[in-house]
Amino acid sequence: MREADPSSPNGLSRREAIKLAGATITASLITSPKHIQAQESKTDPAKRRKRVIVAGGGIGGLCCAFELMERGHDVTVLEAAGRPGGHVRTIHDPLPDGLYADVGAEHFTKPGYDQFWKYIEKFKLEALPYPRRVNMYRKIDGKWRSEEQLQDRTVLKTFGFNDPEIDFIVKHGWTELPRLYFDPVIEKFKDEYQPFGIGLDDLDKTLAGDWLAKLGASDAAIRFNGVRRGDGSTAAKNSDVSALFRIWQAAIVRKRHLPIFKREVFRLKGGNQTLPDTFAAKLGDRVRLACPISKIERGDTGVTVHFTEFGEKKKLDAEYLVSCIPLMILRKIPVEPDWPAAKKFVIDNVQFSSQSRVVIQSRTKFWKGDAPSINLETGDSNMYLVYETADEVKTNRGVLMGSGTPDVTSDGALASFRKFYPGKADTIEQCIVQNWSKDPWAFGCERLPFPFGQLSKFWPHIHEPVGRIHFAGAYADNLPWGMDAATRSANRAAEMVDAA
Ligand SMILES: Cc1cc2nc3c(=O)[nH]c(=O)nc-3n(C[C@H](O)[C@H](O)[C@H](O)COP(=O)(O)OP(=O)(O)OC[C@H]3O[C@@H](n4cnc5c(N)ncnc54)[C@H](O)[C@@H]3O)c2cc1C
Repeated sequence: MREADPSSPNGLSRREAIKLAGATITASLITSPKHIQAQESKTDPAKRRKRVIVAGGGIGGLCCAFELMERGHDVTVLEAAGRPGGHVRTIHDPLPDGLYADVGAEHFTKPGYDQFWKYIEKFKLEALPYPRRVNMYRKIDGKWRSEEQLQDRTVLKTFGFNDPEIDFIVKHGWTELPRLYFDPVIEKFKDEYQPFGIGLDDLDKTLAGDWLAKLGASDAAIRFNGVRRGDGSTAAKNSDVSALFRIWQAAIVRKRHLPIFKREVFRLKGGNQTLPDTFAAKLGDRVRLACPISKIERGDTGVTVHFTEFGEKKKLDAEYLVSCIPLMILRKIPVEPDWPAAKKFVIDNVQFSSQSRVVIQSRTKFWKGDAPSINLETGDSNMYLVYETADEVKTNRGVLMGSGTPDVTSDGALASFRKFYPGKADTIEQCIVQNWSKDPWAFGCERLPFPFGQLSKFWPHIHEPVGRIHFAGAYADNLPWGMDAATRSANRAAEMVDAA
């Protein structure tokens, strides 16, 4: 990788690229450290070493850079923040006794997260079962309900489910109900990356709520599916989703043998940031922190990336760029020439959710023997989901986590907790809020469903490369399950650049 000549034009000429590639290979044969020579010897010697910039050092960018390094390529990660990891963030310092909390991505599943587990094994990290979703206690229409109650025919009847739905819930559980309607159709999907051309295209013009109603779903089933009917009778947040989008997502989940609701989940001992930190340690000097990218020039044979480092404006040339920057930020970065129209539409229009992570530290695990379960779905948007973390740390203290609205304050979250907590007394010492919407480089959270009737405007353009620029990150895969999608798309982008 070389710093660009400030006077150089956009991108690289073919002659320049070949000349530089030759120079890079020669230089690496003479000077590359032992670990790089060992990696190079593992790769196909006939393959040319490519110079690649990875934009963004979240888990997606770091994973992609690691894979490219393993294949012997010359990779540089430009990360805007002063730490690697992006939305995968573990806090230690504000908590006593060796306690810690994942204030970003908190869990992963098995089955599922295949690429993520690959690295757990490779780097010998320790995954702990995370029982945050077992024995949940949910507040629905103002009443706390246990899992047993939500499988009880009499209770289910009061919500308005019909008989086949009640039979299904009793057999498979409250959270699996969508399968009753989706399972019969999902066999049509042969390729999980191809939702079109299997006779369902028209369903992108049908609201998921209307499609469910046509199949005989009750209003209760539509409501708890979180989708909307055309007459607005079952409105829910982010509920304008097409039937095709919903069926496609359900098909991916089933094809990967995942449950609709991720009940059996895991976390990394010491915090999930251990994985991005491990990638960053392996990448060493290839990761340049506090280097926000401000402009991208793309040419036929290469890219030039403009960024700031130590207060100085700099440029870097490479043959390929893998952009792992969230789209909400990428859309603000000037690109010359501009993105092709289809890609630009996606970059400008994909929507993301936003939330805060609430961390409550208590002197004792006061909920033990008090509340029936501390795995709560509270119905209060200031502190929506509650569960314990870091329970393996040897201390009397406890840490509870929760999800809050983007603008929740620690006082607001605590006041909410004290209002809905079904137990008697607490021993809370402090409440910390990680407000992602205020993070300049990592605001936004999960990609929202593509807008109703517009699937073909977003898919497959969202993950397709534009010339020498590839795309990876949690948003750039078919099922936007955070670290799973980030590591899947990172591997795909690394393979494409390697094979190019
Ligand atoms: C509260 C919360 C809970 C979550 N829970 C889960 C969960 O349980 N399981 C799960 O799998 N996922 C979860 N997620 C989602 C998951 O954290 C993310 O999807 C994933 O970490 C995204 O990784 P990424 O590499 O694609 O993007 P990011 O993590 O956003 O990384 C992008 C990187 O690009 C950098 N960047 C931005 N702009 C620039 C620029 N101009 N120049 C250079 N660099 C730039 C950013 O600083 C950042 O480091 C959760 C997220 C949040 C916020």
